[in-house]
Amino acid sequence: MIDRCRRALRDVFGYDSFRHPQEDVIASLLSGRDAFAHMPTGGGKSLCFQIPSIVMDGTGVVVSPLIALMDDQVAALRQAGVRAGALHSGVKFPELLQTERDYRARKLDVLYIAPERALKEGFSDFLRQGKVALFAIDESHCVSQWGHDFRKEYLDLPALMRQFPEVPRLALTATADPPTQREILSRLELRDPGIFQRTMDRPNLFYRISPKEDAHEQLLRFIRDKHPDHAGIVYRTSRKSVEACQTFLVKNGIPALCYHAGLSSDTKRENLERFVRDEGIVMVATIAFGMGIDKPDVRFVAHLDLPKSLEGWVQETGRAGRDGLLADAWMVWGLEDLFLLRGWIEEGEATPERKRLEHGKLNQLVALCESPGCRRQAFLPFFGEAPGEPCGHCDRCVEPPVREDATRPSRMLLSAIRRTGERFGGVHLIHVLRGKDNAKVIQLDHHRLPTFGVGAEYTEAQWRTWIRQLVATGFLRQDLEAWGALKITDKGEDLLFGRCGVRLEYLPPEEPKTRKRKGEKKAAAKAVSTGGDLEAALRKERKAHAQEQGVPPYVLFHDKTLFEIVERKPKSVQELLDVPGMGQKRVEAMSDWILSLVKQHG
Ligand code: ADP
Ligand code: ZN
Repeated sequence: MIDRCRRALRDVFGYDSFRHPQEDVIASLLSGRDAFAHMPTGGGKSLCFQIPSIVMDGTGVVVSPLIALMDDQVAALRQAGVRAGALHSGVKFPELLQTERDYRARKLDVLYIAPERALKEGFSDFLRQGKVALFAIDESHCVSQWGHDFRKEYLDLPALMRQFPEVPRLALTATADPPTQREILSRLELRDPGIFQRTMDRPNLFYRISPKEDAHEQLLRFIRDKHPDHAGIVYRTSRKSVEACQTFLVKNGIPALCYHAGLSSDTKRENLERFVRDEGIVMVATIAFGMGIDKPDVRFVAHLDLPKSLEGWVQETGRAGRDGLLADAWMVWGLEDLFLLRGWIEEGEATPERKRLEHGKLNQLVALCESPGCRRQAFLPFFGEAPGEPCGHCDRCVEPPVREDATRPSRMLLSAIRRTGERFGGVHLIHVLRGKDNAKVIQLDHHRLPTFGVGAEYTEAQWRTWIRQLVATGFLRQDLEAWGALKITDKGEDLLFGRCGVRLEYLPPEEPKTRKRKGEKKAAAKAVSTGGDLEAALRKERKAHAQEQGVPPYVLFHDKTLFEIVERKPKSVQELLDVPGMGQKRVEAMSDWILSLVKQHG
């Protein structure tokens, strides 16, 4: 059996070898044992259920939360010659009937279903009319009520699966901390499952987290510098900020669209289609966008506001670089984000226990933002992984921050906070420290304080950096009831009264934009192949064929495969078959035009 799987991997999908732990997951299912696969986005989860579905007797039933994702996967499978269909509310009636007929006649390898199908009257009877080879639950963290993507329909899946006790179950996810993992296993009623993990690390992502100054300008500089003409996703928290950001980008010549819950479903669908089908579009969105978006060539994910949790951040940034080519995970954040998110948690209707949990999740993320060391070493332990060596591929590794003793300026700040009654936010405190006698300062008589002007030697940006770090490390806290006024914590008292010291980041004398970015430029260059004419010609032709078939270009073949073609310049059908990611069906369908373009431009 496993040999047949290897053959399918090569002939159908065009790959030579399994990636860890694909083969183990597949072997588990073939032997009838349930399995749990925890692999990062782009790790190759789909093949874990697609290949056994092809090889085993019967049809693999795959539950997926997003229509767009199902349609893409069905289209890509059909390209590769696999018999696949989907049942969800967006499928037109005649096609729905055809898919049902094919299933009954046992002519389907893979059947995608939306989770709400599980509850439909008679659905299990329908499934009994064909043969279920396996159940695969994609994005299985949606079953977790504590998780960040809870979908209540997922809770109905066990009732359906219970009616097919002999059928093995596979739960897949790209993001789950250990408690969420345990919840998935128990809620989906996996029976003594094989547990297969692959590190959550995405070596092709470059992580950068910076302080938020002028978010739009920072974003524009980043896009122009590193990603002109590339597809990317920009996340903002509110509809208004999404629209403002999109307008700003368009005004500056960047083709940008927006996506949030306030748009009509037609507009949303249109924007999504354009993002997926055209190349080089920037989508500005709330987190409503992206789950299950399978677009492999997203070259960056930018957060202009702080996400709600470390898991959310990992999942959202995971949407960049699914094709394995270099991509950027970029974020700017400031204390105002933190204040806003904390306020939302407090105002929400959740139980106190849940609120504590959400504050805790936010703390983990802030700790990551302010950690002085390698980003990967900082977040991998949250997923139960060993931190490993510094990665050499994140902002902290490439430009280690300068942390020095900052006890003296920190005490100045704490003392200014204490003397002004712990009633003010960072902006006013910085004015006092730097000796700005503006109207507010004078009206409050703060220009007579002994701390007035004692910190004039440091820039505003430097003070903001220190305040952010003192909050992130628990010396200060923002008072939610008092507009984010800074208060001194017990730890802060120790610092103020000389019982401890502190080391903080000193900004370099020059502006960050002129700072050298060693590893990064090189990295960007590698991702954007300069294949010249042949690359351009292949892209153009791929797009034309894709349009004809009504599918996104990457469904024909991925950029990674395209770069391989440019590099190898295959001269025969046999050589084209050797290109990773092609496979027999694809070669049959496309060898004519690919080989002739190689001949013309090669
Ligand atoms: P996930 O669902 O885990 O995000 P996918 O299943 O979409 O990831 O796979 C990501 C990419 O890796 C796809 O382009 C896929 O074709 C490719 N891939 C998967 N398995 C292999 C393999 N064994 N060898 C080479 N490429 C693979
Ligand atoms: Zn690193």
